[in-house]
Formats: sequence, structure tokens, C-alpha cells
Amino acid sequence: MMPTTSPKPSPNELLKASSPTLAGTIAQTLADPNADRFSDDDNQFLKSHGIYQQDDRDLRKTGKKFILMVRLRLPGGVMTPAQYLVCDALSTRYASDTLRITSRQGLQFHGVVKSDLRALVKGINDALLTTLAACGDNSRNVMAPPSPATNGLGEQVHQHARQVAAAISPSTPAYHSIWIDGVELDLNDPKNRDFVDPLYGKTYLPRKFKIGFAIPPLNDVDIFTNCCGFIAVADAAGKLAGYNLTAGGGMGRSHGNEATFPRVADLIGFLLPDKVVDVARAVLTIHRDFGDRGNRRHARLKYVLADRGAAWFREELERRLGCPLAEPRPFNFERQGDAFGWNRQADGRRFLGLFVETGRIRDRDGWRMKTALRRVVEQFQPEIRLTPGNNLILANIAPEQQTAITQLLASHGVNAADQGSRLRRASMACVSLPTCGLGLAESERYLPDLITQFETLLAETGLGDEEITIRMTGCPNGCARPYMAEIGLVGKAPARYQVYLGGNEASTRLNRLWRDVVKDADLVNELRPLLTRYARERSAGERFGDWCVRAVWPELAASAPPASAG
Ligand code: SF4
Repeated sequence: MMPTTSPKPSPNELLKASSPTLAGTIAQTLADPNADRFSDDDNQFLKSHGIYQQDDRDLRKTGKKFILMVRLRLPGGVMTPAQYLVCDALSTRYASDTLRITSRQGLQFHGVVKSDLRALVKGINDALLTTLAACGDNSRNVMAPPSPATNGLGEQVHQHARQVAAAISPSTPAYHSIWIDGVELDLNDPKNRDFVDPLYGKTYLPRKFKIGFAIPPLNDVDIFTNCCGFIAVADAAGKLAGYNLTAGGGMGRSHGNEATFPRVADLIGFLLPDKVVDVARAVLTIHRDFGDRGNRRHARLKYVLADRGAAWFREELERRLGCPLAEPRPFNFERQGDAFGWNRQADGRRFLGLFVETGRIRDRDGWRMKTALRRVVEQFQPEIRLTPGNNLILANIAPEQQTAITQLLASHGVNAADQGSRLRRASMACVSLPTCGLGLAESERYLPDLITQFETLLAETGLGDEEITIRMTGCPNGCARPYMAEIGLVGKAPARYQVYLGGNEASTRLNRLWRDVVKDADLVNELRPLLTRYARERSAGERFGDWCVRAVWPELAASAPPASAG
């Protein structure tokens, strides 16, 4: 199919072209004590600095109260203990006293007021962390498998993830000037006035761009949802032979717009390890040059692949690389998800996988996770690894420290041995209300209660501690990757959700729309007959998502209106 790019640049494109440093007037607004908010234009520039201006939607009836969300860019989700403690302290001082783990292994600070914004971002940078390009029309946080138990390839793959992240980072001087030096960028200096990013150009990317690494058989980064994916391939001796490249995955869609859709990435070819940075940059430039700059709903790389095809993409990529890719090597993903509880690392040390419900690190009655983590990190200095499932790993722990850490966590209500049902541990929710401006329905605040209802239903239907992946988002953008879940719940309107069924355990298959609008209070009862049938009809070991493909998808096809004969 031929590409369908829109000829006229969107307003975002004109805005980016007007300030290639991405400085806008952010520094001036920061310095103005009378300004309670950034302009709409600066709000767009702020995204490339890792910052969203939001308002507390619970308070809208009494007037908008502007707050900011600040996101870390953290390749592979890895932090030193010292960096984690800085973030913990900054969240108490400048944010909502919580830290939110994102579905791309980043960390978010919520509820920041404008007068604290610079101190927070400077504090983050002082800890040798960054927020640059965590949002906006850039390459977002590079994902990598968080589990230290992953075979011997883990460290090498993380090293490549860090190299790629460094090689695709924007180089604007405005970030340092505004947040570290605390001054307006000097546009009288010709190198600032004439700045054009050597990789991104004047107008950066048409939309966001996502890169991930995976190590089979575990697909814990949901590799096929990334714009650009590297699947590690081991040789006969277990050493890294190279990577299979995937391209064109993505989750976001818009309600009522069938030209937008979630897409599983195509498998493109195989490359040697020393080509990984070149390939990542070349894929990014294809998005830069061929993505739709007139229609932001059609601007992701997945639409370039959908419109032009994987064969065209591979040819274009090889042309840019100046050499051919090899044919993809065999690989097999068996499952996704995180390892919970105590586990042994490849190097013999221990790691502890901790379930963080909906990714929100906080203290609440009976479960003081934030304080517990602070005390464990202060005392035992483990490495911190954030997972794509919104959870957290304490890594590199000596075996003799295991008991003391378990006891310290337990004294704060965190039970390392029993972290909830398999259903709950496999669940994910995006942030949505009250802070996300795009949220149509509740997500993070509603899913825990809904899971409790589903736990009761599973007990009633004899399914007990069955694992079913349930993912909820407040809008169709799909931040928690609901279209890969066995049950995906996507906000349609206040207290109304679409229900998707049929993702698989290895997260290689998109689910399908089953119900277009279901009231929140009716979700469990709507799904009760299906779960009852599944308990009765499933074959040995058959997962709910696979059973849905076998038993429910044919019913969907039968009830669909006949296709037009043209
Ligand atoms: Fe916001 Fe939608 Fe993303 Fe949820 S999925 S965080 S509602 S943009």
C-alpha cells in the first residue's frame, strides 16, 4: 500500500521548527514568580525535558490547579542505591511523597508545583540522572530485561541498551542551561542561535519513538510493542551472537478512528552486536524522514511499516546502513512478566522481586513500601531495577543478607514471601485520573478494587490462583499495553470501558475487542459467564487468553457484520 502522509505540517511541527533548542520561554516563566503556569507552546517544549504540565482533575470544579509531572529517563530501569535514595528524598520534598514506576522502566514524580520544578530537576541531574527526552517527540527510555536471573547475556544486553540510549539522546544546550545552570539559554551566542540537533534535525521526530531489548525466552519488555526491538540471540556456547531486529510495534489508537490501531512489530533481520547502535540510529532516522508530520494520529513508525511494508523498510534500512542484514535467526518467547520473591542471580548472588501495585511506591496503612525500601537501600545498598510490569527488583544481594532484608520489609507490612495472588501480580494499570490530562476513565485508582472482585470470581468458578493478565488504561493510548493482555480494559468514558480478550502468555499476540462499552460496576458480571465456561471447557494447561482465541474469537467473527462486497 502506498504511504498516506499528510502534506501540511501539523502545528507541533511548526512549533518545533521555531525553537530547535527546545528552549521556548521555559526559563523566563520559571523565573517569573507571578506566572502560575507555562504557556501551551512551552508545555510542548517541556515534554522534551521530561515534564508534563497537568492539572488536578479532581479539583477542576473549583478552578484549575496546575501541577507538573517529571519523568526520569533510565535505560534498562537501573539505578544505584545512592540514586534511588536521592529520588526518594526528592519525592518527599518536592512531589506527592510517592514515586511512580512507569511501564517503560522509568520513574515519575507527580504533583510538583512550578516553584519547586527547577530544584527537583537539578536534584535529579546532580544524582547523574536525567529527564531529557523522557517525553516528547524523541526516543523514549530504552528498555532492557530487568531480571538479573536472565542467563549470562543480561549484562552485555544492558551495556548495549545504555550505548544506544546515549547515542540517540538529543544534544540541545537548553536542557543544561535551564535546569543545571538556572539561566536562560543565550541566543546571542551563534552556536545556540543556529543550533540544529545532528541526529534529530530541526523538528525532532514526528512522534515518540520506543526502543527495547529482550532476551528469550522471557518477553518481559513486551518487545513487539516497541518501534524498534532487539531480540538477543545466543550462540551454541551461550554467548551473544547478535540480535534479531523488530520494527513497527505500537499500542496507541483513538476511539472512533479506525485508521489508528495497535500493531505488533515485524521481524526485519539479524545483525551482529557491533552494529546495534548504527541500526538503532538508522531506524530512528527512517521514522524521522518518513513519519507523517501532518497528522499526529498517523505519525508513529508503525504506520510507516503498515503503509509501506516490512520489505520496503528493510531495503531502506540496508541502504542507510550501507550493508545488508542477515535473515532472522530462530527464537522463542515463552512468557512475559516479572519474577517475584527471592531468586538466585546468574552470578550466584540474590535478588528480590517486589510487587508494587499499579507501580505506586508509597506508604499507606499496613503497607509502608516507600519507607521500607528507603531503609533497605540505606542499610544494604542493593542495586535498584525497575521492571516494565511497574514492579521493582532489589539486586546484587549477598545470600547472608536475605533474612535481615526479609525481616526489615516485614516490619513495614511488606511480605516478601506472599505478595498477593498471581492475578494481582500480573495486573497493570496506567496512571490516568486525576493527573493525566487524557484519562477518560479511572485506572490506577480503580484496578486494585476490581482485581479483588475478580479474585472472588476466580474462587467462585474454581479457577483459584490462576494467572490471567489484566491490564487497564484510562484511554486508548495504551500506556499499560492493554492490547497485549488476556483481558484488556480501555477507558471509553467516565466509568465505562472497552473489553479486549485474547492476548497470550508470551505477549506476541494482540487481543480483540469483545465489548465496546461496559460499566465499571458490570465488568465482573459481564465476564462471569466466560470465566465459568473457561473453567469447564479448558484443556490441560490452557491459558484464558488462548481459550478466548479458540472459543470466543470465532463467536466474534460470526457476529460481525458481513464485509462489503465493494
Ligand atoms: Fe493517560 Fe491514556 Fe496513558 Fe492512561 S493510557 S496514562 S489515560 S495517556
